[in-house]
Amino acid sequence: MKVLVINSGSSSLKFQLFEMPQEKVLVKGLAERIGEKIGKFKANDFVVEKPLATHKKALELLTEYLLNPENKIIDSKEEIKIVGHRVVHGGNKFVEPTLITAEVKEKIKELFSLAPLHNPANLTGIITAEEIFPKAKQVAIFDTAFHQSIPVKNHKYAIPEKFYEEGIRKYGFHGISHQYVSREANKRLGKEKSRLITLHLGNGASATAVWNGKSYDTSMGFGPMNGLIMGTRSGDIDQSIIFYMLDKMGYSSAEVQNILNKKSGMMALAGSNDLRDIETAAEKGDEKARLALEMYAGAIKKYIGNYIAQMNGLDALVFTAGIGENSDVVRKMVTDDMNYMGISIDSNKNKNPQKYNGDISDASSQVKVFVIPTNEELEIAKQSYNLVAK
Ligand code: ADP
Repeated sequence: MKVLVINSGSSSLKFQLFEMPQEKVLVKGLAERIGEKIGKFKANDFVVEKPLATHKKALELLTEYLLNPENKIIDSKEEIKIVGHRVVHGGNKFVEPTLITAEVKEKIKELFSLAPLHNPANLTGIITAEEIFPKAKQVAIFDTAFHQSIPVKNHKYAIPEKFYEEGIRKYGFHGISHQYVSREANKRLGKEKSRLITLHLGNGASATAVWNGKSYDTSMGFGPMNGLIMGTRSGDIDQSIIFYMLDKMGYSSAEVQNILNKKSGMMALAGSNDLRDIETAAEKGDEKARLALEMYAGAIKKYIGNYIAQMNGLDALVFTAGIGENSDVVRKMVTDDMNYMGISIDSNKNKNPQKYNGDISDASSQVKVFVIPTNEELEIAKQSYNLVAK
């Protein structure tokens, strides 16, 4: 059965077509700069640059590509039975994969205020896919859903009750990725009941405590700005700073948002949000870059300590996403001097995790340390397929 996975952003649309349940990738690509003068469309080896006025235009190009007899992918659009959509915010309403109906779309819309950058774009993707693939079942997979298992004591803030009733609580993000890598880690451990910490370290970054397969706590909260230090986001800061900026320094609320979201994190500390540049600068002796790396790894360590204390132990620590999968420097800095916690890695294995099936732990380490490439698209395909086919 063919399952198309769509991750729709405000000016981009990423897609993958899978043959399920074989998990075979048939097509992988993306449309970028939608709505701009010149857009770019890429599907497997096929690349074209031309105006892509709307998301619909991008999906039309994709169907053209899929139906082109030379590509031998499908003979008719009806062969695509399921379209799985990534939706960032599901609020309290969505805990699991959900078949999209008019009511579901309405609820995704109600959640616009909680994820103003993402949910509108996700809904555009859904509406467009319904137009282009009217016969397919449309499924929404929510980034917040995995974290709905977080117990009240970890998702409630200590502020007046009425705000909780209004939906102000920890939601957490990157759930699809944390769920995927935690399941992969449990396969490697050979058990489903385990205590894990999964570290999704991309441009955005979050740490999750996964206890017996369920999210127990996570570092992002009501929004995606807090927790770990990220590419351009501050991570945890003292709330008083925001009021000081607003009331004493004369910044507007929009300016403060922009500073904490786009101008902070590694960008503020080291002048770049690309970790490769920062590593290179640090190697050359750049003090700012060195300090930035130390603070970046330090923020992660603090969450590891927190979660080990909460779960009273740890079976495995999992690194994933751009930085987690590729930076041996960050993995080393995070795991250095953690033998008290039972964590130690083998420096050779850390340099080349693939060779060791992602297990970089030292023989003496009580805790397994894994590097597991995330695959959010496959996770969406699996969950969508399981919902429809079962
Ligand atoms: P996004 O959140 O945008 O999906 P990614 O998961 O692709 O982000 O991660 C992007 C980050 O990964 C960037 O900071 C980039 O510098 C970093 N990265 C990618 N490859 C490497 C590498 N080989 N070494 C160090 N960092 C890397």
